[in-house]
Amino acid sequence: MHGDGWVICGDSGGFVNSVHREGSNLAMTTGKMAAETIIRLRDEGKDYTAANLKGYRSALEQSFVMKDLKKYRDVPEILHGNRQFLTTYPELLTRAAHTMLKVDGVDKLTKEREIKRDFVARRSRFGLVGDAIKLMRALR
Ligand SMILES: Cc1cc2nc3c(=O)[nH]c(=O)nc-3n(C[C@H](O)[C@H](O)[C@H](O)COP(=O)(O)OP(=O)(O)OC[C@H]3O[C@@H](n4cnc5c(N)ncnc54)[C@H](O)[C@@H]3O)c2cc1C
Repeated sequence: MHGDGWVICGDSGGFVNSVHREGSNLAMTTGKMAAETIIRLRDEGKDYTAANLKGYRSALEQSFVMKDLKKYRDVPEILHGNRQFLTTYPELLTRAAHTMLKVDGVDKLTKEREIKRDFVARRSRFGLVGDAIKLMRALR
């Protein structure tokens, strides 16, 4: 995040919250914190050494930026290792929405049962519970 004579902010520093599709606010916040650190050092007449610039890292650690990135740090690995979250579930949810929103004279309880059957058929009860646990762990 910083070294002798440099700080890194925004996308180039990996400050992207892919779960919430946030990048621009993290870029602005990290840029502001880096600038504040640099201005403080200038006002105090200090050099931009790695040791002096560590105030930037401390500010980041205390802010929502690092708290959020740490909270979701396991998500990419879980998504890569469990392709069903990116393939099967979007497909099932799209079909569920179509079933539920279609005006076809079928009552909602019957539609709910059809959706449940669809989920169990694709992932099994055991698989659904396992996926829910994995997702909860990743998002905790
Ligand atoms: C399709 C898409 C949708 C997105 N949607 C959202 C959203 O809804 N919400 C959200 O918060 N974020 C969103 N983002 C992410 C967001 O755009 C970025 O996180 C944010 O722009 C990062 O800002 P940045 O200043 O770090 O980098 P950038 O905006 O990429 O700015 C870097 C700048 O440096 C310039 N540059 C590169 N190399 C050099 C060089 N050698 N010399 C001089 N200049 C150079 C580039 O031309 C660029 O202008 C989205 C991104 C994409 C691609």
